[in-house]
Amino acid sequence: MKKTTLLTVLILAGVVLGVLVGHFLLRSPGASAAEIAQDTAVWKTIGEFVLMRPLKLIALPLIVTSVTLGIATVGDSRRLGLLGGATVAYYLATMVLASTLGVLLAATIRPGAGIPDDVRRSALEAGQAHLQSVSGVVTPEGGVGGAWMTILQQLIPDNALRAAVNLEFLSVITICIVTGLGLIAIGSKAKPFIDAVEALHEALMAIVRVILWAMPVGVFCLVAWSVGTMGLGNLAGALAKYVLVVMLGLSFHMLVTLPGALALFGRVNPYRFLWRMRPALPMAFGTASSVATLPVTIETARDHGGCSRRASGLVLPLGATVNMDGTALYQGVAVIFMFQAFGYDLHFAQYLTIVLTATLAAVGAAGIPAGGLVTTIIIISAVNSTIAANNPDIDPLPLAAAIGLIFPVDRALDMVRTMVNVSGDAVGARILTRLAPDGPTDDPVRERALA
Ligand code: ASP
Repeated sequence: MKKTTLLTVLILAGVVLGVLVGHFLLRSPGASAAEIAQDTAVWKTIGEFVLMRPLKLIALPLIVTSVTLGIATVGDSRRLGLLGGATVAYYLATMVLASTLGVLLAATIRPGAGIPDDVRRSALEAGQAHLQSVSGVVTPEGGVGGAWMTILQQLIPDNALRAAVNLEFLSVITICIVTGLGLIAIGSKAKPFIDAVEALHEALMAIVRVILWAMPVGVFCLVAWSVGTMGLGNLAGALAKYVLVVMLGLSFHMLVTLPGALALFGRVNPYRFLWRMRPALPMAFGTASSVATLPVTIETARDHGGCSRRASGLVLPLGATVNMDGTALYQGVAVIFMFQAFGYDLHFAQYLTIVLTATLAAVGAAGIPAGGLVTTIIIISAVNSTIAANNPDIDPLPLAAAIGLIFPVDRALDMVRTMVNVSGDAVGARILTRLAPDGPTDDPVRERALA
C-alpha cells in the first residue's frame, strides 16, 4: 500500500472511530453539560498535544518562509502584480458566490421558521455564557467599521515582533511580502539569504511530513471530544433544518462551485485534484482550524496536488488567513436563521447587506475554531442597524440569544466549513499555479544558481 493511501485510511479510521467513541462512550446518559465537558476534556488535551500544538508551532515559521520565498522567487514585478491581483480576485469572487448561495438557500428554505419557544428561551438563558466564551477570541465591538479598521491595522502593521507574538498572520504576511520585494530589489546580493530561507523552509516541510503520521491519533481524539461534548442528538433536534441548509450549501460549494472554477480556470480534473488533497481535508475536519491545517495543506498541495511552490507558498498562507468560503456561506445562513427564529422579516436590502458583510466578516475571521461564529456578530449588528434605520420601534435582535441559539451545533458546522475553507485555498493555489509555475528545474535554489 502506498504511504499516502495508508495515511488516508488511518485518518479516516480515526474520524469514524472518533465519532463512535464520542457518541457511544463519552456521553453518559443524564450527565450535565459541565460533567460531560469535564469527562471529555482529556481527549481534547491529547489531541492538542499530539497534533494541534506541533502544527500551530510550525505554522508561523512556515508562513514566513513560504511567503518570503514565494515573492522572492517569482522575481518579476509585473508577474507579481498579476499574481497578487488574480489571487485577491479569486478570493473575493468565491467568497461572494458562497455567501450569496447561503443567503439564497436560507431565504427560500426558511430554516428558522417555527423554532419552538423553549429552544428560544434556553438560547436566551445560555446565550450570555456562550457569547463570553467566544468573544475572547476576537473582539467584534465596533460593528462593520471596527471590522474594517482591524483588517486595515493588520494589513499595515507597526510592530513586526508584536505581530508574530500575537499570531496576527495577516500582518506577518504583509511583512514577508515587503521583505520579498526588498530581496528582489537588491538582486544577486539576496542570494545567500534566499538560500538560507529555502533551506529552513525545506527543513520545516520535512518536520511536517513526520507530524502527518500523528494525524490519525490526533484527529481521532479531537473528533471524539467534539462529538462527545456536542452530542449528535443536537443535530437532529429543532436545529436540524438549519444544519441541513448549511450542509447543503457547503456541499454545493465544495462539489460544484469550486470544481467548476478549477475546471474552467485551472484546466485540470477538479475531482482528481480534491482526491489528491485528501490528507488535508480530514485534518481540517478534525481540527476546525485552517491555520493549524496549513502545514498539511502546503505539503499536500505541493507534493501531491501539482501546485507550484511559488503559487502555493503565497496563495495558501494568505488563503488560510483571509479566504474563507465555507465561513462566508455559513454566516449568511446563520444570520438569516437567527432573525427568522426570533420572528423578524428581512427584505432584499438586508439580504444584500448580509452578502456583503458576510464576505467582510469571513475575511476578518481568524482561521481557528469558532473564528467565524464570533464574527457573525458583525453581520447581526449591520442588519440591526438597517432595521433601526427603517423602523425605530422594532427592538434589535439580542446578540447573546442569537449566538446561544446556534451554539449547540456550531462545532459540527465548524468542522465542515473549515474543510470547505481549506478546499477553497487549495483550488486557488492550483488555479494560480498557471500564473506562477515553478521553473524548469522545479528547484528555486538550483534555478537561481543556473540563471
Ligand atoms: N474554523 C474556521 C477555520 O479555521 C473558521 C470559522 O470558524 O468559520 O477556517
